[in-house]
Amino acid sequence: MHETKVCTQCKQEKMLSEFYIERRALDKRTSACKVCARQKGIKWLEKNKSKRNEYLRRYRKLRPDLEKNRQLKHRFGITLEDYHELKNNRVIIVLSVKYHLMMWWQMLTTVIQQEKLEDYYVQNVIMD
Ligand SMILES: [Zn+2]
Repeated sequence: MHETKVCTQCKQEKMLSEFYIERRALDKRTSACKVCARQKGIKWLEKNKSKRNEYLRRYRKLRPDLEKNRQLKHRFGITLEDYHELKNNRVIIVLSVKYHLMMWWQMLTTVIQQEKLEDYYVQNVIMD
């Protein structure tokens, strides 16, 4: 039994064993030969991969919060809410550090001014 079939893709006459089995088809074989079917499959995968990537890109653009969430989860294992809380805490810490630095600076300048004043007093008032 040497049944052959012509592939609809490459138009070559090939042995039936060169075609994948397809139960729905009349001759129980695919219309394209194994080589063409495989190529078609690869092309489909590539096409859908780029389609999927395109979809993901657009989705991330539309929902930057979700994308940020994904990145945070991936990198640090935290959610966007955790991140905001951390960020707020950090802002509070930074503000309090700034406040203390300012207070310290004011204190320091006051001390320096007092010392200068004392120096002035000593040099100009007492010495006279
Ligand atoms: Zn073919």
